[in-house]
Amino acid sequence: MLDHIYRQLVVDHAKNRRNHRCIDGEDVVQLHYKNPTCGDVMTLYMKLSDKGLIEDISFIGEGCSISMASASIMTDLLKGIYVKEASTLRQAMEKLIRIGEKPSDCDLGDAIALEGVHKLRARHNCALMGWQAFDRVLGIVENNRNEEKQ
Ligand code: ZN
Repeated sequence: MLDHIYRQLVVDHAKNRRNHRCIDGEDVVQLHYKNPTCGDVMTLYMKLSDKGLIEDISFIGEGCSISMASASIMTDLLKGIYVKEASTLRQAMEKLIRIGEKPSDCDLGDAIALEGVHKLRARHNCALMGWQAFDRVLGIVENNRNEEKQ
């Protein structure tokens, strides 16, 4: 029964993707990312304040239900929180998918619906694609800031 509800949640996010749009602006970091395992593609957009608040985050993508649902859920989770909190969620998500461990120190919200992906090793990267793109976007932000300092 629970499996059924979970599946519906994933299908809903994959069909009605949250934050599925571009964000324009000079201060928006964007990154194109590809999951070689399954051919899923996405562009992630993020607007970060100087204090590390994720003011806006969105994506445009094409791919399997798991990847699109996961990216949709991720943008919902990350919008309006600080990068520090986002890192906690990022690590919790990695554990949920790679080792099937539910987080005790944070709330992954709808992302818990992807728990079953743990058993599907070939799909791990689908469920983590959005989050891997997020890592890279943070890397770009850090690089940009270091360049500004020099
Ligand atoms: Zn996929």
